[in-house]
Amino acid sequence: MELPRLVVVGTGVSRNLGEALQGLELGERGMILSGPIVKEILESRVRPSLEDSSIKFTWEIVGASSFAEVERVASLVKEEKADFLIGAGGGRSIDIAKLASFNCKIPFVSVPTSASHDGISSPFGSVRGLDRPYSLVAKPPLAIIADTDLISQAPHNLLVSGCGDLISKKTAVKDWELGSAKTGEYFGRYSANLALLSANMIMEDAESISSITAEGISVVVEALISSGVAAGIAGSSRPCSGSEHLFSHAMEIVAPGKGMHGEKCGMGTIMMAKLHGLDYSEIKKTLKIIDSPVRAEEIGATAEEIVKALVLARSIRRERYTILEEAKLTEDSARKLAKDVGVI
Ligand SMILES: [Zn+2]
Repeated sequence: MELPRLVVVGTGVSRNLGEALQGLELGERGMILSGPIVKEILESRVRPSLEDSSIKFTWEIVGASSFAEVERVASLVKEEKADFLIGAGGGRSIDIAKLASFNCKIPFVSVPTSASHDGISSPFGSVRGLDRPYSLVAKPPLAIIADTDLISQAPHNLLVSGCGDLISKKTAVKDWELGSAKTGEYFGRYSANLALLSANMIMEDAESISSITAEGISVVVEALISSGVAAGIAGSSRPCSGSEHLFSHAMEIVAPGKGMHGEKCGMGTIMMAKLHGLDYSEIKKTLKIIDSPVRAEEIGATAEEIVKALVLARSIRRERYTILEEAKLTEDSARKLAKDVGVI
């Protein structure tokens, strides 16, 4: 089990980044990775505390999370003799920091500036390959510094996407249970329950999340961190990623760029819940309160794209047993499923 050593969630906590790093004794040379916009927002906040802590750091602007970008950062780390990496931003900078630090065998710290998915704390990083996105196993962040003040200023659809990613644990855990019963694979009750807890918190607090209260944002951030930790405990993304994620990945192939990761996962959860015989209307109701898409057109997708993705989903990660193995969706049954739950 590999778990983060320090998790700080709260308003303005990024202003004490230097202090937090000093306490972790990671060394004196750090490299911060972010996109240009995050740099603009974050630099003035963290610089004074980093300078006070006498930590030397360089700031590297990174592009999309690709194998080439991970390699570029890894060679920069060697050149600059950096002792640790900081990934600051939404998805890509954290993914690149996670994978490059794993390659270089140095620790990394996650500073999320949005709450759009559970990669902010999980040991898994995704990179875009030529044909599809790949999820790679690395290590979880040594520390997570989540400034809810910054996160509340991020575009609203990022938070919405984070909620969709969390609700998807409902069907991910069901798929894991099913896989364990059918193939005898390991099933970890503790990590399964921890992942489910994250989904249930979102269901319970949907109203306060939708009105973007400080408490609502903290719930989403903490739930995302816990769900990444659940993956760390399980030693695989199994408790966090099931058939609904396969649907989201399939959509990425069928209709690239339409809808965010968590939005598609949320929509997938409605459909996979129906296949599992769960109460999908509760899930749909929560997504609606949060303003997360429940219909194809809300993410700019067509009915045909949804049907295609549903059929394709099963073939994406065959070693992972899910309800899709039982349902064996055809175009007709996929269309009926999507229609029954109102996605198309
Ligand atoms: Zn996800």
